[in-house]
Amino acid sequence: MKLENLYQKMGIEKKVYAYGQKIEEALKERFAAIDKTAEYNQLKVIDAMQKHRVSDIHFAGTSGYGYNDLGRDTLELVYAEAFHAESALVRPQIACGTHALCIALSANLRPGDELLAISGKPYDTLEEVIGIRPSCGSLAEYGVTYRQVDLLADDSFDWEGIKRAITPKTKMVHIQRSKGYQTRKTLSVLEIGAAISYVKSIRPEIICMVDNCYGEFVERIEPSDVGADLCVGSLIKNPGGGLAPSGGYIVGKEACVEHCAYRLTSPGLGKEVGATFGVMQSFYQGFFLAPTVTAGALKGAIFAANLYEQLGFSVVPDGQESRHDIIQSITFGTPEGVIAFCKGIQAAAPVDSFVVPSPAPMPGYDSDVIMAAGAFVQGSSIELSADGPIKPPYAVYFQGGLTYEHAKFGILKSLQQLVKEGITNVP
Ligand SMILES: *Cc1c(COP(=O)(O)O)cnc(C)c1O
Repeated sequence: MKLENLYQKMGIEKKVYAYGQKIEEALKERFAAIDKTAEYNQLKVIDAMQKHRVSDIHFAGTSGYGYNDLGRDTLELVYAEAFHAESALVRPQIACGTHALCIALSANLRPGDELLAISGKPYDTLEEVIGIRPSCGSLAEYGVTYRQVDLLADDSFDWEGIKRAITPKTKMVHIQRSKGYQTRKTLSVLEIGAAISYVKSIRPEIICMVDNCYGEFVERIEPSDVGADLCVGSLIKNPGGGLAPSGGYIVGKEACVEHCAYRLTSPGLGKEVGATFGVMQSFYQGFFLAPTVTAGALKGAIFAANLYEQLGFSVVPDGQESRHDIIQSITFGTPEGVIAFCKGIQAAAPVDSFVVPSPAPMPGYDSDVIMAAGAFVQGSSIELSADGPIKPPYAVYFQGGLTYEHAKFGILKSLQQLVKEGITNVP
């Protein structure tokens, strides 16, 4: 059977397929550059694994306290090495990205300290961690105050505003690389580095934490290469490579990471405890695959941007601009557009392709959210997934794809659904 016919059999009409081919054809050079970045990062990861003599003994699991878990301790050395950081905490006990960020913040802030966010409002789920929205157990309840400086209209840092907001109470600065549920630009690692240098020039002891979710391996450098004291993310996003079944990581300065370990487990125990139950092989193997998996997801995002941009939808990032995370947002302007897009993504999944997503309230979010995910790991967003809060401007946030081929199929399915519902048409 010809490829085109196989697509047809799987629900992609000829005209939608042909339009997709035309878009893809024009992206060859972009894709080749992404492959080069993947090659660079692949070597970086292998180098770190070789240096720390990763061996199959490291894949054995521990139980109980997890004392002397060689696999866990070595993986933390590998992460620290690959991120060029002093230390790392990489654990299955870290439940998700929000948890990792919550640990990093609450471990390094004390009552009376102030947290300053300099890239605008943090990711939705952090609002309750910080206490921007009153919440049980928030930093606000523990007497940690919060200030925020928004990015300027052109999405650059507000240098004057940052200077004015730094006070003797400012203990930590929060910078978010990815846009999250916003339509701003994602920050490049170099832009983040400039902001860290600026903060340190005002008060060198301020701890700069970067929310690195979705950014890992998109560039050749990470925030830890440009002065971040803490760099934090989820293992069911880029660095888990699709294989990690759960978990999060924190890399950075020795003292800051040590504080995190005491917060994650317990004062006095720190890094010494925490069994790994046999998940280590998937953590190592996922990290090994992460550079190429991230590259596939990135190509999918660029394909989607160009495909929808040329149909007249507003897309962030746009079809041409350089990429610093794997998120693509597409603004449909109506709930119907968001819902149709998510239906298409779901219908392309290897798992749960037969279910139809619909909007519902979600813990941590302040509006109904629709989520499409047919994933091997529940909620994994390095796997092809899409979600959209059902509120203006009715944008969908799309990410992942363990392979570019799957991402492409998902995007074509989404377009097919929009065409079928008469929301758009292909030229
Ligand atoms: C996903 C994400 C988080 C939260 O991670 P969860 O694993 O969903 O808890 C935080 N910040 C950003 C920018 C994210 O993309």
